[in-house]
Amino acid sequence: MDHFQYKNGEMYAEAVPIREIAAAVGTPFYCYSTATLEHHYRVFADAVGGLDATVCFAVKANSNIAVIATLARLGAGADVVSSGEMKRALVAGVPASKIVFSGVGKTSGEMAAALKAGVLHINVESLPELETLSGVAASLNIEANVAIRVNPDVDALTHEKIATGKSENKFGVDWADVPATYARAAQLPNVHATGVAVHIGSQILDLEPFRKAYGRVAGLVGALRAQGHIIGHLDLGGGLGIPYGDEHPPTPEAYGAMVQSVVGDLGCQVYFEPGRLISGNAGILVTRVIRVKQGVSRSFVIVDAAMNDLIRPTLYDAYHAIEPVTEAPADGEQPVVEVVGPICETGDTFGAPRALPVTAPEDLLVVRSAGAYGAVMASTYNTRPLVPEVLVNAEAFSVVRDRVTVDDMLAREQLPDWLSNGDRLRRKAGS
Ligand SMILES: *Cc1c(COP(=O)(O)O)cnc(C)c1O
Repeated sequence: MDHFQYKNGEMYAEAVPIREIAAAVGTPFYCYSTATLEHHYRVFADAVGGLDATVCFAVKANSNIAVIATLARLGAGADVVSSGEMKRALVAGVPASKIVFSGVGKTSGEMAAALKAGVLHINVESLPELETLSGVAASLNIEANVAIRVNPDVDALTHEKIATGKSENKFGVDWADVPATYARAAQLPNVHATGVAVHIGSQILDLEPFRKAYGRVAGLVGALRAQGHIIGHLDLGGGLGIPYGDEHPPTPEAYGAMVQSVVGDLGCQVYFEPGRLISGNAGILVTRVIRVKQGVSRSFVIVDAAMNDLIRPTLYDAYHAIEPVTEAPADGEQPVVEVVGPICETGDTFGAPRALPVTAPEDLLVVRSAGAYGAVMASTYNTRPLVPEVLVNAEAFSVVRDRVTVDDMLAREQLPDWLSNGDRLRRKAGS
């Protein structure tokens, strides 16, 4: 469910015509819907409400502070994977006591920052990381609450680049090494490994991989407790998929009921880290047609957004629905075209050829389901500045990240002395 719908023949974000936002901020831009973010958060939180649960939004999916703040006001925590994301979550008003620090390559500096901020727990992914964390915590005289991220060796049946729960992936402690890791944690100063964390991947469209992984975790909790460890919390990660096209992911209700049945009687606090599920369909990328070019076998609709703005189609072969802002007549012509950006790469496409209502230069198009892993993965390739982000709330909209300018970009670069012109060299020499 989302709030980007046609009314009177044109697309709105909640109660605001997209056309009006485009006129005010220019194109391309990302647009997020408050009502959709809130709806997705509430549906998920309700679905796991039977557990002692905390929903920590995975900030890497959409790290705009206005998006995080929208969710924080509903009680969401945050799952962060860098000290930069931690800072965003804190600035957005997420209390440190609801921040989980994840990630396979935390530096000592990031560990220190997380400990000083007082985050809820740090998810540790290896024995060397555990030892480093113990050292950092001891030097600061802070006690670190830790969950060991385990690798359950479960195939999430998703795109290979976002599967994280197989033994050959870089994530988590190998299943066979898990007992020894908790045993070592018990000996180390300033770390308390009272949690078990697992995250098997993203855009998962079937409950079975989750059930398998969580079942293994439940068995592990029993085994660890039998060895004398105190295990009080589980972090079950994110990963529940969303419909981009005709996918039918499990509902949050079905997911919540499954979790309840698998881990509900362990007496643990349970943390969830959904990202895509909350923000994916709460955002769109709005772009303008530059021109239509007739190719040999098809025509190309060249738009002003590109792979640097939204890399998912080329990185993950991802499907994103594309719709005109001006509603096309239901019985109108729908030629097969390819929507592409201006970048000098064949991969700069928003999807394989598809049927789209006839478009002309200056038309506005909406690329749907762009609220997760969209703006956060943008780059400035081809010296294309980062585009603005806009948050809509009923009749109101606000630019929540400004468009970067080329001058902003160039201001961060300078020539070394040996390439500066003679004039500047002479001035430096004082002559
Ligand atoms: C990416 C990630 C998430 C969020 O995944 P979604 O598929 O967006 O829900 C949660 N936890 C961890 C550890 C992650 O790396």
